[in-house]
Amino acid sequence: MFGNTKRIYLDYTSATPVHPKAARAQGDASDVFANPGAIHAEGVAAKRVLTHARESLARLLGCKAREIIFVSGLTEANNIALVGLARGLELSKRSLKDTHWIVSSIEHSSVLECFSEIERMGGTVSHVEPDAKGIVRAERVRELLRPTTVAVSVGWCNNEIGTVQPLSSIGRVLRAYEKAHPSTSSGQGNRIIFHSDAGQAPLYRSPQVHSLGVDMLALGSGKLYGPCGIGCLYLSNRAALHPAIFGGGQERGLRSGTEDVALAAGFAAALDEVTAEREAESKRLRLLRDNFAREICARLPGVIVNGDLKHALPHMLNISVPGERTGEYLVLALDHVGLALSTKSACREGEANSHVVAALGGEEWRARNTLRFSLGRDTTEKELKHVISVLGKVLPD
Ligand code: PLP
Repeated sequence: MFGNTKRIYLDYTSATPVHPKAARAQGDASDVFANPGAIHAEGVAAKRVLTHARESLARLLGCKAREIIFVSGLTEANNIALVGLARGLELSKRSLKDTHWIVSSIEHSSVLECFSEIERMGGTVSHVEPDAKGIVRAERVRELLRPTTVAVSVGWCNNEIGTVQPLSSIGRVLRAYEKAHPSTSSGQGNRIIFHSDAGQAPLYRSPQVHSLGVDMLALGSGKLYGPCGIGCLYLSNRAALHPAIFGGGQERGLRSGTEDVALAAGFAAALDEVTAEREAESKRLRLLRDNFAREICARLPGVIVNGDLKHALPHMLNISVPGERTGEYLVLALDHVGLALSTKSACREGEANSHVVAALGGEEWRARNTLRFSLGRDTTEKELKHVISVLGKVLPD
């Protein structure tokens, strides 16, 4: 509640509330305040909590505990992974000349900006476009591969339209290419490192890294009903990264600085809970979201659903509203009557149109007038009925 208005929150893609069990785990671990690097009993106790959190995350991701690097969130995980890989290659090859990189054009800015930096460092970057439904097809990635390709980055699910990308098919294409090109001049043998920003996908899809075929997977606790300020990078031993942060050598030397034990405990508990709730929540939200989408399309002629709901996470709906009013204007108008939602990512300041919706094609207004609804654990059918009636009053031009 803000004042007398009952608020309805439909922006779970931006941030999720902390799950009560994650809050409890974080609170319990806060008692263990010592530095996990200290060798006295309190330090050992803190280290034990950190190790437990790391092992729990490793079990949920199907990897080894030492393959989990704790970081502050998705942005940091993406930077450590991608810029770290580039710096490692730059140091071993003396330059990034003759290294080729592929990134999907609909990534979050924390990935796209890393590739801008890689270009500035001398690497050659190709952007793989999605199809009109927002899916990055494995064949399109295959067409862009070259003997000098060192890495491919495709987010698991798109953070604006929710489409889930076929990571395992892309991974298979990369492994087949490696086999067919046993020797290259890329500086890392014939390896093509596959990076993915997992975004919110682990809420509704199993994040077993070996089935996904990735070498590096970025996770952010604040998107997964855990505390904000922590995340992790799954890092296989195929990728050799150079650190950007130097100091005490924590987290395999890639992220020096004292670890936050309480946040790590909260994060691990959150992923454990969302794993337990995954199947039931996926079904519940898909039903709610599909009915919501149907109602919107029936009541508001001309609205376009962006992406492909059949291949999207079950909690997301992105629409374009015809007319002169921009997505931002509509978000503020809806905020005024008690609804919290987004037009696109909250993290792309200054971008007028959605680069994701623009990549799907169509008329210019479609990328300008976008609304992103994202549902979550506390969303109810009753709330959505109310939202529909509010939209019926606010959206028509
Ligand atoms: N990657 C994706 C897919 C996101 O949705 C976001 C946040 O919206 C980020 C990265 C950045 O996350 P953070 O600000 O927590 O680092």
